[in-house]
Amino acid sequence: KYESYPYERMQKIREQNIAPSLKTYYKRPLLLHQGHMQWLFDHEGRRYLDLLAGIVTVSVGHCHPKVTMATQKQLARLWHTTNIYMHPAIHEYAEKLTSLFPDPLKVVYLTNSGSEANDLAMFMARLHTRNFDIICLRGGYHGGSPYALGLTSLTSYKHGVANGFGCTTTMLPDVFRGPWGGSHCRDSPVQTVRKCSCTEGACLAKDQYIEQFKDTLNTSVPKTVAGFIAEPIQGVNGAVQYPRNFLKEAYQLIRERGGLCISDEVQTGFGRTGSHFWGFQTHGVVPDIVTLAKGIGNGFPMAGVVTTKEIASSLAQNLHFNTFGGNPLACVAGAAVLEAIEEDDLQKNSEDVGTYMLLELAKLRDKFEIVGDVRGKGLMIGVEMVTDKDSRRPLPAEEISQIWEDCKDMGVLIGRGGLYSQTFRIKPPMCITKRDVDFAVEVFRTALQRHVNKAAAK
Ligand code: PMP
Repeated sequence: KYESYPYERMQKIREQNIAPSLKTYYKRPLLLHQGHMQWLFDHEGRRYLDLLAGIVTVSVGHCHPKVTMATQKQLARLWHTTNIYMHPAIHEYAEKLTSLFPDPLKVVYLTNSGSEANDLAMFMARLHTRNFDIICLRGGYHGGSPYALGLTSLTSYKHGVANGFGCTTTMLPDVFRGPWGGSHCRDSPVQTVRKCSCTEGACLAKDQYIEQFKDTLNTSVPKTVAGFIAEPIQGVNGAVQYPRNFLKEAYQLIRERGGLCISDEVQTGFGRTGSHFWGFQTHGVVPDIVTLAKGIGNGFPMAGVVTTKEIASSLAQNLHFNTFGGNPLACVAGAAVLEAIEEDDLQKNSEDVGTYMLLELAKLRDKFEIVGDVRGKGLMIGVEMVTDKDSRRPLPAEEISQIWEDCKDMGVLIGRGGLYSQTFRIKPPMCITKRDVDFAVEVFRTALQRHVNKAAAK
């Protein structure tokens, strides 16, 4: 079918007919033709282990047979109705999805993208509280729509036009790169190499970051706020983890000011962090609103907002409509994803294989000076590259790019993230195996060694 579209022709079409804001990865971007579970195949039949999963979206595996079969069946029956009519799929899905949440999070509103879900979450928080201001963490990514862009705090995604009024960023409690933190502050099988100044039972880093959070609340917003949004582990910023109990205390401070707490589970949800199905559970908190996207549909464009009946009722005072949200095809895909996670035991696999990978990568960190930090939980992993462990200065972009390109040439696709694009992001489909990890770690080790040899030869 694509024979009349050779690589060069596509490059030309890209230049002329596709928005230039859509950037590709790699010097010679990959041209993909097929996917199967954790594998991708390019136009020449070359196979790649996919450690980025379409940016953390392919949760259960590329073209997972269960999801493919369920959607194919539904495609032949009925695609679209809008919610002005009834269809069993949305009811079945709403029941299944909300059964995975603790009380009182039992109501879902389906949308089509993560940005839309976060837009709606902000909207609901403001409507419900009748307050306006929303607090978010620096380094967070919550979407590219004008509303959600106010919550996104990464320079590369910001544009000099008015967006997201009423969003105030606060200091990122990053235990590796921030001013405070250390080896025992975060919840990961791998500790940082930074020495910890915490004492038994007390986390100094958490206390310091909470002081900063209070400072923002006391200086930058009114006495009452609409809410606070955070990812349980920051995704686009490179799997940044917060000190233990930071979110718990931040939630309390927000609630004291009349605000709602929003957990953006677009990357961390659906068992990815291993120990729990939702990232917020790893922090011992129950949010008021949870936003979902990406892995929810294993690549099918769908997303959602889960909240309490009481909060959802604020939106019911008037009409709020979304043409495609909750269409039968999406709901069938979503339900098949939930079944696949359960049947293939993917949450447990995330925990087992993710922990194994973290520990293997930590061995590389101990061997190579330029591997500054290995962190994360389950299959939500970041590897931060530095010039040296003492200074923690980001490794220059061109050096990181060389390692990254080398990994691709050896058959392993990895993501990039962080303010300086200094962190490798590893978030594969959750069906990945320990054998795949051995292969990926060996490839990464080879690329690092080549880099060291090259630097020594200079
Ligand atoms: N939240 C998080 C944590 C994300 O990573 C993203 C996408 N990178 C979004 C929201 C926005 O999702 P979408 O691209 O589907 O609008």
